[in-house]
Amino acid sequence: MSGPRPIVIAGNWKMHTTPADAGELARTIAHRIAEPDVVRVICPPYVCLAPVRDALAGTGIAVGAQNIHHELAGAYTGEVSAPMLAGLATWVILGHSERRRDAGETDELIARKLGRALEVGLRPILCVGEQLVERDTGQAAAVVEDQLRGALTGHEPEDLVRGGLVIAYEPVWAIGTGRNATGADAAVMADSIRGTLHELGLPEHGETVPVLYGGSCTAANIGEFMNEASIDGALDGGASLKPDEMAGIVGRAGVTARARRGGGAFREAASR
Ligand code: PEP
Repeated sequence: MSGPRPIVIAGNWKMHTTPADAGELARTIAHRIAEPDVVRVICPPYVCLAPVRDALAGTGIAVGAQNIHHELAGAYTGEVSAPMLAGLATWVILGHSERRRDAGETDELIARKLGRALEVGLRPILCVGEQLVERDTGQAAAVVEDQLRGALTGHEPEDLVRGGLVIAYEPVWAIGTGRNATGADAAVMADSIRGTLHELGLPEHGETVPVLYGGSCTAANIGEFMNEASIDGALDGGASLKPDEMAGIVGRAGVTARARRGGGAFREAASR
């Protein structure tokens, strides 16, 4: 691998904010996360993409969508396709557990969405993660492996890397619950994810693909994840709407970004 993987902090605003207030929130957060060593992405609702894009212009912070349709155009009332996001977003979250749960998204459907994202040059954050019962019965790694194989098989491994694939490991039981995985458990899952990427034939054994943690990640616990060499940042939900939380999360991520660039000191004692 040519250098350390980028550190990425992405915020998923879910179904919060309106076009009237999203720009102001984005501007406030942007001032607090002026940290160029970290790749920063804010993913507001579709209707807030334009005001957030305008608010973030010149800040170096990217805008992402929370979903796309699996077709490019057609009779799909209420849906938004990948090409429609041109000029509005450069990233997209795919396969979030709330969409798997509420919209019945399958791995096969997510694979098609991933293809659309790659076609139009949207950088995908593919979410995977197990349910609590699956963790409790020792199936977490197998479940996540199935999700990865289901979403990635059929795509050229080179295209996935060229398209900037990012994986977010998000245990479903940790999302929005205030209960987070331990850094050590998340690292085991990140290693397992990279094992699958390697088996799927991704260039450089999948080592260039950032793996993020998501699930009740906050300024108070981000250090636990950033201390793990196999974890490259976070996908945040609730915390991403709070400027103080985002400042703490991105600030801590920046410490790791500089340490890794400076020679692989992954455990930065000073910042715990
Ligand atoms: C998410 O929605 O991807 C997420 C991680 O949510 P939260 O941080 O609120 O658990």
